[in-house]
Amino acid sequence: MKDMIVKNPSLVNPHGREKRLNPLLLSGAELEEEREKAKALAQLRVTPREAGDLIMMGIGGFTPLSGFMGYDDWKGVCAECKLADGTFWPIPITVSATEEQAGSVRNGEEVAIVSGETSEIIATMKVTEKYTIDKEFECKQVFRTTDIDHPGVRMVVNQAGVNFAGPLKVLSEGIFPKRYPEIYLKPSETREIFKKKGWSTVAALQLRNPMHRAHEYLAKIAIEICDGVLIHHLLGKLEAVDGVPASVTARAIGVLIDRYFVEGTCVHAGYPLDMRYAGPREALLHAVFRQNYGCSHLIIGRNHAGIDEYYGPFDAQKIFDDVSQDALEIRPLKIVDRVFYCLKCDGMASVKTCPHVKEDRIVPSGTKIRKVLSEGEVVPPRFIRAEVLEVLRGYYAGLTEEERDHVFSVSR
Ligand SMILES: [Zn+2]
Repeated sequence: MKDMIVKNPSLVNPHGREKRLNPLLLSGAELEEEREKAKALAQLRVTPREAGDLIMMGIGGFTPLSGFMGYDDWKGVCAECKLADGTFWPIPITVSATEEQAGSVRNGEEVAIVSGETSEIIATMKVTEKYTIDKEFECKQVFRTTDIDHPGVRMVVNQAGVNFAGPLKVLSEGIFPKRYPEIYLKPSETREIFKKKGWSTVAALQLRNPMHRAHEYLAKIAIEICDGVLIHHLLGKLEAVDGVPASVTARAIGVLIDRYFVEGTCVHAGYPLDMRYAGPREALLHAVFRQNYGCSHLIIGRNHAGIDEYYGPFDAQKIFDDVSQDALEIRPLKIVDRVFYCLKCDGMASVKTCPHVKEDRIVPSGTKIRKVLSEGEVVPPRFIRAEVLEVLRGYYAGLTEEERDHVFSVSR
């Protein structure tokens, strides 16, 4: 079955013309010098989303970007998924400042970028361009909606009025290396791991929540046809109603891999971004950075990176048909439709492989699991592995009543 996937002798190239990772993180004496210099610079505080994007540029996950985007890149990306030089890129990567800040920073001046959460200086940036954007245009293009209830739209609408662009020097990876020492891996590190294993075809499974049976099934299909799978989950922020903290997700994924996967068939790692919930466009971004991490394929499931009913269930699969063949080396694995446990088949299946009726099928979903746990009901058997459920129950049991109300306030 492995012949179905075209074999290359080596891993896919990093994204962009140079075909080389472009990490902006400084090290050694250069880092110390820049840190010292940064203390005296004017400061720009950034949101968690902006800090996450910055760290991705730091570790080469957003290769070939060399800083936050200028107007031409922003416009090309919004309008046709292209940077000004023609390189494929699906979502604007920008940083914003208030008009007052923008007025006090001269063109060509360097600023220190500070995490709004931790107050740590995480980068320096030479501001070579200041520009305003049409936020409605960005939202329409990227999120296909301007509805303020969409969390991604809200992020854009709430960002400050002036975008800054210019070369970036990254000085820190923020909280991630310390908080997730085992699973926070850089693209150069996952590439090294894959090479050591002798892998060339690697499928990435994108996750933002603990794995239930359907995710496990998808990962195992990928293992059947590729050399291995990268189980890669979000370490940044989610909507509170959308899941559990990344540390809980990491534990839940860890127990599943330990008990239900053949040793050496998967690599478990996390990446430092927040969810934007841009559905199809975010699926493309997921593909771009997975190529940088060394993955040849990205599993695209139902409603990938979507939220509520903003996108059709297969929009994130379809959008790859509009991407020209030479834009990306990574390919989507549009493996299946809805995946479920069928009582009659007595196993995991999809509408492609199971001839039975709805009543025979148990369809796992993170939303349902959260609802069932919140209402103290019994989780149906074969919905989620017992070991994973135990991790989740432990998490929910530890919440205060107020936290529980917040987590379960909206059922998505
Ligand atoms: Zn069946």
